[in-house]
Amino acid sequence: MSSAALPKIAIVGAGLSGLALALALHRNGLTNITIYESRPATLDIGGAIMLSPNALKILDAIGAYSRLQPRSYAFDTLYFRKSDEAITLVDTFEFGSAEKYGYPALRVYRHELIDVLHELIREKDGISIEYGKKFSRVLSETKEQVTWAFADESQASASFLIGADGIHSQVRKYLHPDIEPRFTKGIGVTAAVPTAQLQLPSDFDTPVTLMNSKYGAFVIAKQLRDGSEVLIGKQRRFTEDLNKEGWADMLRNKQWCIDFLREGASEFPPLVANAVSNIPENKINLWPFYVVPKLDSWVSAVGKVVILGDAAHAIPPTAGQGVNQAFEDIYTFAGVMGALQRRSAAQDDADRSSIVLKRWQTGRQQRVDKILELNAMIDKRRLPGQDSITNEKDEFQLGWLYNLDFEQTIADWVA
Ligand SMILES: Cc1cc2nc3c(=O)[nH]c(=O)nc-3n(C[C@H](O)[C@H](O)[C@H](O)COP(=O)(O)OP(=O)(O)OC[C@H]3O[C@@H](n4cnc5c(N)ncnc54)[C@H](O)[C@@H]3O)c2cc1C
Repeated sequence: MSSAALPKIAIVGAGLSGLALALALHRNGLTNITIYESRPATLDIGGAIMLSPNALKILDAIGAYSRLQPRSYAFDTLYFRKSDEAITLVDTFEFGSAEKYGYPALRVYRHELIDVLHELIREKDGISIEYGKKFSRVLSETKEQVTWAFADESQASASFLIGADGIHSQVRKYLHPDIEPRFTKGIGVTAAVPTAQLQLPSDFDTPVTLMNSKYGAFVIAKQLRDGSEVLIGKQRRFTEDLNKEGWADMLRNKQWCIDFLREGASEFPPLVANAVSNIPENKINLWPFYVVPKLDSWVSAVGKVVILGDAAHAIPPTAGQGVNQAFEDIYTFAGVMGALQRRSAAQDDADRSSIVLKRWQTGRQQRVDKILELNAMIDKRRLPGQDSITNEKDEFQLGWLYNLDFEQTIADWVA
């Protein structure tokens, strides 16, 4: 296919969604792509992330898995324990399994994943990234193209404009001018310390969440390939809703973050006091939990503007699916776009595109809804009052989450 015949695709945001989307589109033969990023470099927030098999299958398909895996800590299960003397196991949650789902779970620094995606993009023709270009507003949209303005008042046009610009998406404002992210009144503060500092018992597996009804949840998760570092983090309710500057001020106040992590340490098992005894300030992160209210559409009425990733459905962190669902969005969207492109060359059916995009969005929303149901089930199981690990029959069945056949799903939507 000559590049002149290819639709020009503009992506707003060079975060994990935007970068991976460019690679997934490219894999589908769509190679006329520009990513516009408002910052001078891709945003690297929040230390390490956890990737589950559904996302790893996608990263494998776009060529990222084999490069990422050697930089990651592999594990299978999340553990939930009480803060009593015996550190009683209350619950487990499967996050990966090479045997059952083809991949273990990986814990990896976000900057490593960003590096791998950039590396892959540099190796491809037909994807460019423009930094310092802040999308401002859509100026016009027709069946042929969409035109928009940047914050510097320069303009550009493309066949499609994809908003991968995160939870505070500006592209979303075109589709849903009145929707604002909602603060869930929960925050997490995290840091990273050497694993040796905790003096963990030898059979103590991580990631583990130590639950305490008064002081919230304390999380410990090994990271780096050899597990020589752990994330330590505390989550609890926080009723004050701050603006962007307010959260940034709190993150700059390292002593406040350290005090937050240390609060109530004596009410947890002694390894928590060890964990917070020495906290390097440069490894501290703050994550206020926001959600995007359910949207009735991720695609504009004309069908040329689309949002995905956090811009479409930022979800609470309970099942650890935030970033993993963003990868599902981008891969299925790219698959659908590729299939439409191959067909339209043959049968030129313009309306078909909007029908198929609608199916994509409905299918993706149903999946996000199921994750929200799973979040609620997990929260319910971890309410105070659970005494010991639940019966085996109550184990979560997670094949639907980790074993989805994306190629078949895409084919069904396009059929
Ligand atoms: C501190 C912290 C820790 C987190 N930890 C985890 C975790 O462990 N696991 C997990 O699953 N999720 C985690 N999340 C959530 C996760 O970061 C998001 O789900 C994920 O980053 C979504 O990716 P995205 O590419 O859709 O959006 P983002 O990562 O937000 O990327 C959006 C990009 O768009 C750019 N942009 C924004 N506006 C414009 C504009 N107007 N014009 C041009 N560019 C623009 C931004 O600069 C950014 O580079 C965490 C979030 C935070 C804040």
